[in-house]
Amino acid sequence: MTYEDLKQRQSWTLEQKIDHAVIVVSSFMEKVQGKVFVSYSGGKDSLCTMDIIRRFIDRDIPAVFCNTGNEYPEVVKFVRQTDNVTIIRPEIHIRQIIEKYGFPLISKEQSQYIRQAKHTHSEKLRNIRLFGSINGIGKIAERWKFLIDAPFDVSEQCCNFLKKKPFKKFSKETGLYPVIGTMAGESRLRFQKWLKYGCNSFETKMIASYPLSIWTDDDVWAYIRKFKLPYSPIYDMGIKRTGCVVCGFGCHIKGDRRFYFLKECKPKIYEYFMQLKNNGISYREALQYCGIDFPDKIFIR
Ligand code: SF4
Repeated sequence: MTYEDLKQRQSWTLEQKIDHAVIVVSSFMEKVQGKVFVSYSGGKDSLCTMDIIRRFIDRDIPAVFCNTGNEYPEVVKFVRQTDNVTIIRPEIHIRQIIEKYGFPLISKEQSQYIRQAKHTHSEKLRNIRLFGSINGIGKIAERWKFLIDAPFDVSEQCCNFLKKKPFKKFSKETGLYPVIGTMAGESRLRFQKWLKYGCNSFETKMIASYPLSIWTDDDVWAYIRKFKLPYSPIYDMGIKRTGCVVCGFGCHIKGDRRFYFLKECKPKIYEYFMQLKNNGISYREALQYCGIDFPDKIFIR
């Protein structure tokens, strides 16, 4: 697979993509003897994945939602109204994760690099994170290097504890494998994973199917409109993504309004998360330190 392959497949019609998704999941199910569940977030992508499977393959396939304790109340309500969804929970609260590991800021990749550069005992890894490997990849972007010396930590670890571990535990206990509605075009990490493993992944630590790999956001909305699926009301409230309300991944991108929305529409939730601390520094102070545009930003001349 190459970047061109992805581009070419992304240009397929919706009908071709639906057929492709059905084939992807069907061949996955054949390999795992039909033992699958849909990893359901209450968002549009997993809604679409769940509908494709239940509409075209098997209407009784279960879905599983992990309530991280960090979701929009509207999303949780919407999930509770969906048929055949099991709700699981992490064993640890996000407050404890932030206290111990740091804030989820910038991106999954960059926060991991920064955490490693700060805390690794390996000189080699630290050098890779600072200067890149032989081919120049794996390093902290210049604009975020100052975070190595920040008085707080940033980290990608909360996804591990709040999402990956509960799903892994569920998989282990039930013997079911996840079907996940992520797309290769969403991030560099997801694209690289798709390049390496394709739409069904049997070689990674987590065996899983990704039938929407070649889809785009527009395809998902077109599918939702085509089949008139009810979807989470938060999209009509101006929110572009479901998932954790507190997540700071991507909040530095120009025009991102997530914290403005949160303060305006969910002031109590906003206040609660802004006072969470790592190393004595609050989330509010950390956002200010990173130069993020958010409602409590103090402009310093
Ligand atoms: S989406 Fe963001 S806040 Fe939620 S678990 Fe992952 S890193 Fe943490």
